[in-house]
Amino acid sequence: MKFAFFDEKPYDRASFEPYAQQYGIELRFFETKLNEHTASLAQGCDGVCVFVNDIVNAAVIDRLVQAGVKLVALRCAGYNNVDLGYAFGKIHVVHVPAYSPYAVAEHAMAMLLTSIRRIHKAYNRTREFNFSLNGLTGFDLHGKTVGVVGTGRIGRVFIDICKGFGMNILAYDKFPAPDVDFPYVTLEELMQKSDIISLHCPLTAETHHLVDAQAIQDMKKGVVLLNTSRGALIDAEALLEGIKSRKVGAACLDVYEEESDIFFEDFSGHIVEDDTLARLITMPNVLVTSHQAFLTQEALGNIAETTFKNIIEFFENGRSNNELCYRCGRVETCKKHRQDKCF
Ligand code: NAD
Repeated sequence: MKFAFFDEKPYDRASFEPYAQQYGIELRFFETKLNEHTASLAQGCDGVCVFVNDIVNAAVIDRLVQAGVKLVALRCAGYNNVDLGYAFGKIHVVHVPAYSPYAVAEHAMAMLLTSIRRIHKAYNRTREFNFSLNGLTGFDLHGKTVGVVGTGRIGRVFIDICKGFGMNILAYDKFPAPDVDFPYVTLEELMQKSDIISLHCPLTAETHHLVDAQAIQDMKKGVVLLNTSRGALIDAEALLEGIKSRKVGAACLDVYEEESDIFFEDFSGHIVEDDTLARLITMPNVLVTSHQAFLTQEALGNIAETTFKNIIEFFENGRSNNELCYRCGRVETCKKHRQDKCF
């Protein structure tokens, strides 16, 4: 079996190659991302392995099908970059629903602590033997209210971490979980009452720009925003205005609306064209990491293991429990519910 592996990075090779050898699957690594112009690289492959910023739209799907590709194996949980509706009936799509919610939730807390206790600034200062404390005053997390949007795997772990810090929790989820030990409130109430807001819901048409100018206006002055989910949950222009007007006290962004051509690459020494990102990064109260929250040894190992399990299951049994289908949820029409596969 042959798989074209797009958007390859050295850490991917390290985690995927041992499994490829174990299962006898040939991986053809490509540093380029999958898009209309690169899809032909998959010619003669049984499948493609893609990540968050590879594009799997209608045109790409057509080209992959022409190239003989039968399976798109996402090595991530989110699938907003795949046109599942168009894929239905043409090509199968599997993903890695969970690999380490701890990796992402712990990174969210790491960013929060770094930001509000100015650790990044202190690190730079002491390296230059500047031991002044001026401008480094932070605030206690204990007793503060954190609003968590999306109480799935990652959101729940983040809530547990916040509880350990003695924080008060407010949660919002479109599909609230039963039997939880934290209160659900409306999204409006969460926005109005939280000192810190952390986003852990998927990016959908409904959640696109969930944090926009109006939402920011409704928030407490000095609110700290955390986004380790998907960039377009936040309207970046509105955030910039919120920072400039001093309404937003700090922002910690592991993801960014227009990250696909920027994140994961080295642009030091280049002129960055994205003015909004450039301006955000110049702000003393904005902390940006480049979609790094998932990047732990445990998560990488789990991602590789589950991806190969999905591939083997699919090609040996013609189905995978981690197959994605835009019809899922509609029990009466979804074939997966009858046959345990999408079509
Ligand atoms: P999950 O599916 O377990 O949880 C998502 C939760 O969001 C669910 O409880 C769901 O009901 C809720 N939700 C759905 N629509 C909503 C809406 N309109 N409003 C509010 N809540 C809504 O997913 P997860 O594993 O916890 O991952 C959450 C997100 O984190 C993913 O969608 C992905 O985008 C992101 N993620 C980021 C990284 C990273 O490295 N930064 C890594 C993994 C996942």
